Amino acid sequence: MRARLSRRLFLASGLALPSLVRAQSFDTDVVIIGAGAAGLGAAQACVARGKSYVMFEARERMGGRVFTDHSLGAAFDAGAYYIHWAERNPWADIARDLKIETMDDGALPRGAWLRFEDGARIEAAGRRNYFGEISRRFDDEPARVPDISFTEHVADNPDLLPGVRGMARMSLGEEPERLSAKDYARLWSGDDLIVPQGYGTLVSRFGAAFQLHLSTPVHAIRWDGAGVEVTTSKGTVRGRAAIITVPVSVLAKGGIAFTPQLPMRTQEGLHGLGMGALSKVGLQFSGHRFGLSANTNLWDTSRDGAGVNFELWPGDSNLVVALFGGDLAREILSQGDAGVVAALVDRLARLLGEDVRGAFVKGSVHGWVNDPWSLGCYSHALPGQADARAKLAEPVAERLWFAGEATAAVDGDFGPAMTAGGAFLAGASAARAIKF
Ligand SMILES: Cc1cc2nc3c(=O)[nH]c(=O)nc-3n(C[C@H](O)[C@H](O)[C@H](O)COP(=O)(O)OP(=O)(O)OC[C@H]3O[C@@H](n4cnc5c(N)ncnc54)[C@H](O)[C@@H]3O)c2cc1C
Repeated sequence: MRARLSRRLFLASGLALPSLVRAQSFDTDVVIIGAGAAGLGAAQACVARGKSYVMFEARERMGGRVFTDHSLGAAFDAGAYYIHWAERNPWADIARDLKIETMDDGALPRGAWLRFEDGARIEAAGRRNYFGEISRRFDDEPARVPDISFTEHVADNPDLLPGVRGMARMSLGEEPERLSAKDYARLWSGDDLIVPQGYGTLVSRFGAAFQLHLSTPVHAIRWDGAGVEVTTSKGTVRGRAAIITVPVSVLAKGGIAFTPQLPMRTQEGLHGLGMGALSKVGLQFSGHRFGLSANTNLWDTSRDGAGVNFELWPGDSNLVVALFGGDLAREILSQGDAGVVAALVDRLARLLGEDVRGAFVKGSVHGWVNDPWSLGCYSHALPGQADARAKLAEPVAERLWFAGEATAAVDGDFGPAMTAGGAFLAGASAARAIKF
């Protein structure tokens, strides 16, 4: 038997975890798995309750799917960008407390929105867009929206289909056949803020106050004794309860082994949810702007309306940020990072001319669906599975709490799901609900 380190030493070391035999006592009150928005919300709530916690994060950084990429000179948010429904989003308050500037998205300067089909410029003006009707169908009286796919929900009016496909792929990152209309309809809306220094910068500034173990993936959780026994790449820790904020695709793929197996309702919850493939790629340019002003968007579609949106010079930077989702994203990402960048530069050269190649400097790819610690952008309920979030949110034996964007709810309303604000609320409310 190896000597057991004291908790203080273990927390301070941040390197090696103690190898524990089945001790009767607990090492900590709460084991938090994942240091994204939800994990940090949970940690703050533990501190507020005077409960101890140990937080494990698989990556070498905190923030999870909120990450500001600085590798291309100017910062850009590779994951979350908007502080949605800012009136009630905890990150808006945190930004205020930390004196980090936010700006109302509606007040930002807008560039042109240029439309292309297969690389050829087309006039969007004069084309009827059906967004008013789509928005009525998906947003009005969410309780009445049926738990069927996006496509079935508009099956009576084929004119709505192109707009619905675009919305599904570019807002949820997924094909419309795989999305529950009801799940989408209940999402909250409100004012959106942006963080000029980056949403990821905000989250990591906030997270700097919390102890955590980076580069420490959790492999297994036993929950058959009193409390939980959590095994990581560096050792095992016993806690009274675990808050698991790991993305649902990672859990559904067996990223953490549970002993005993999770109850059927939890498994149904997990398998009733999917994750889309919304992806972002930053492309750095040398300063040549092709005569286009900051915040110009080029929306280039090809077969079946799937496409890539290029946002040019956001915040007056020398970057182009490409955004794409659905199966097209999976296809583009299958080429590997260098292939993805080359394909996007080719695509942009088709829109703006061959000078693009000479002005291009380098790219940075964020294909979250291929990232082993997220395996997708954010969760959605599959058609017919609108109750999946509620199933997953039920605590297991008062010991395991699945808390993250996928289970984000306030008073049973899953309106905050999918977002960084919702994730924070989910982590915090799990930490507050644990009975000690
Ligand atoms: C392209 C894109 C755009 C987005 N846009 C927005 C937006 O504008 N606004 C918005 O609010 N939201 C947006 N989102 C969604 C938002 O980023 C997420 O909903 C939110 O960040 C999820 O937080 P979380 O804590 O639940 O999960 P995560 O941030 O994924 O945190 C979970 C953590 O668990 C870690 N982990 C995984 N497996 C293990 C393991 N075995 N052991 C230990 N740790 C593990 C992960 O590394 C991760 O850090 C976007 C996401 C993407 C990808």
